[in-house]
Amino acid sequence: MAKHKAKTRKDDLRTGTPFWVKTPHSTVSAQASLTRERFDVIVVGAGISGALVAEALTRAGKSVLILDRRPPVRGSTPASTAMIQHEIDMPLTRLRKKIGKERADRAWTRSVRAVEDLVKLADKLELDCQMRSKPALYLAGNEMGARALASEVRAREEIGIRAEYLKRSDLVERYGMDRQAAIWSDASASANPAQLTAGLLHAALSRKAQIVSPVEITDMAELPSGIALATKKGEVLVADHAVFCTGYEYLPQMKTKSHHVTSTWALASDPISTLPEWMRDVIVWEAAEPYLYFRTDESGRVIAGGEDEEASESNSDPRNLAKKARIIAQKLHDLTGVKIGKPAYTWSAPFSVTDDGLPIFDRVPGFERVFAVLGFGGNGITFSVIGAQIIAAAIAGKPDPDAEIFRYR
Ligand SMILES: Cc1cc2nc3c(=O)[nH]c(=O)nc-3n(C[C@H](O)[C@H](O)[C@H](O)COP(=O)(O)OP(=O)(O)OC[C@H]3O[C@@H](n4cnc5c(N)ncnc54)[C@H](O)[C@@H]3O)c2cc1C
Repeated sequence: MAKHKAKTRKDDLRTGTPFWVKTPHSTVSAQASLTRERFDVIVVGAGISGALVAEALTRAGKSVLILDRRPPVRGSTPASTAMIQHEIDMPLTRLRKKIGKERADRAWTRSVRAVEDLVKLADKLELDCQMRSKPALYLAGNEMGARALASEVRAREEIGIRAEYLKRSDLVERYGMDRQAAIWSDASASANPAQLTAGLLHAALSRKAQIVSPVEITDMAELPSGIALATKKGEVLVADHAVFCTGYEYLPQMKTKSHHVTSTWALASDPISTLPEWMRDVIVWEAAEPYLYFRTDESGRVIAGGEDEEASESNSDPRNLAKKARIIAQKLHDLTGVKIGKPAYTWSAPFSVTDDGLPIFDRVPGFERVFAVLGFGGNGITFSVIGAQIIAAAIAGKPDPDAEIFRYR
């Protein structure tokens, strides 16, 4: 029996208070203790990735035990600003250069489908999570100017992803923002990430799933007929398969050189009644370093973020939080003319990125029946939809044709 030491990292996943933890229906009650029941699959992690995986598996008829060392939906998911984007962090033109045209085109196409699938799923399950389809505006910045955006539009259109190039005057006229150019594209969305996750977990629980918390998994081993997971308290749990959806607290075996942790900041304003009408319907981000992004919620709050730093620790410094919130609010004002006043909520968090902007959904190296869903990147939620589809298919013995794009690298 191959036995691997598998203690996960433990990070401070948030500093400050994300708005979402204050919204109703944003968590789920968990059982406090484990039973002797055997499950088909153990899902470790009750954030958006674990919730999507558990929903997909239970929809396919599997029995699922969901474990978390924190209460459900209290990892990094509630820190998310939940712009559910079909646009991958790495523009299509650049991704083609990095991983080849065929694979890049498939990754982008799959990302569009993932947003559509998630919106449909939320609708079908009648999730009360403010899920709303919205177009995205991608503004020219110091990373991509007007010409680069024009060729990005051509690349996307070539593979059937609708995108419209907006020149400066169009952008000013339609959105009152003065930038060299922008890409307008439909097929994105926004939601309350905590309510979305809680709703998906409830859907899994209404089928054959249970959630137990707090339970920390510290070790794992592969058996001839399944897997065994050890808890911090010394219990051993056996199942046919395990899926680790542990976010940025990945297992040592999951460590890959193509991935690193950075820091990011976000805020939510009080509801603003005088917002420009367009701001309620569009999500905005920029091709800049550091970048600004923003969206609104149904009540007219502006939720904005960015100011990322390469350092993995700087997000836990409260002095940085106040400073970064001021910068984000000022940038938003300079760009849109909207003054948000003192933010109602500010928060910061670690954030994982990969060199090619793509996530990892794969068997953990050295294991046949243990999978990892590492939905890293600025569109981690969209990626986790793809991850849930790929892993549920692998467990059902029906490999997904796009799986090889998201393998360990
Ligand atoms: C500020 C910020 C803004 C973001 N904005 C966006 C955005 O606009 N759009 C978007 O798509 N994405 C965004 N993201 C990314 C997105 O939020 C993440 O991809 C997503 O939250 C990761 O979810 P997860 O379920 O993988 O991780 P988590 O929510 O962290 O869940 C993992 C869970 O695993 C548990 N766990 C870990 N180790 C163990 C163990 N050993 N045993 C038991 N349990 C364990 C943890 O307690 C945790 O609850 C943002 C992220 C941040 C930080």
